Amino acid sequence: MNAEKNGLNAKVPEKSGEELPWDKVLVTFTFYHPVHKFKTQEWLITEDNTFEDLHQSVQCLANFCEFGVGSEKVVFRIGEAIIKNLKTEISQIPLKIGEIYTYLHKGICQHDMIVSDIRLLNKNDPQSLSHYPFCLFSSKTKRRTCELCSKSHAKFVLFNNRLIPIAFLYLCENCLNLFETSTSEVYPYLYD
Ligand SMILES: [Zn+2]
Ligand SMILES: [Zn+2]
Repeated sequence: MNAEKNGLNAKVPEKSGEELPWDKVLVTFTFYHPVHKFKTQEWLITEDNTFEDLHQSVQCLANFCEFGVGSEKVVFRIGEAIIKNLKTEISQIPLKIGEIYTYLHKGICQHDMIVSDIRLLNKNDPQSLSHYPFCLFSSKTKRRTCELCSKSHAKFVLFNNRLIPIAFLYLCENCLNLFETSTSEVYPYLYD
């Protein structure tokens, strides 16, 4: 993985492996937070890469959550094209800069996504195919800790429980099991 964490200054790697020809087209994909809609990541990818490469690169906390297990469904919606066969190469789909497309993964987590740039390779880009997809930007994501034990990541939000004085509580699985939940509401929690 070529992820450069918090990478406003993504460092261009040294040449290695197969070198790209000068006329190779590069596409920048920008991804947004599924709920709060801020920019989370930006990936530079060659026209020869596939949507599978892009999918494998995008980092999202939903990938670490057990919620949604069993639904590994991934769909890219690019204008009129609905891409379910991820072996499709980027060059096979017509792209428009700035149009809002969508990326759905884990069957439930949907991100807005845009193409923010399409251009030829230049000398400041990583020069080898093996460096792509190349991460240009990655924001910090926030995942709450369980408010009861303060140890594990929260996986659920508990609403309207008569034992808690506040409206809702973020809990890990173990702590959730301490509550009698038949009269309250429990929702899976992924991240803020
Ligand atoms: Zn996601
Ligand atoms: Zn806990």
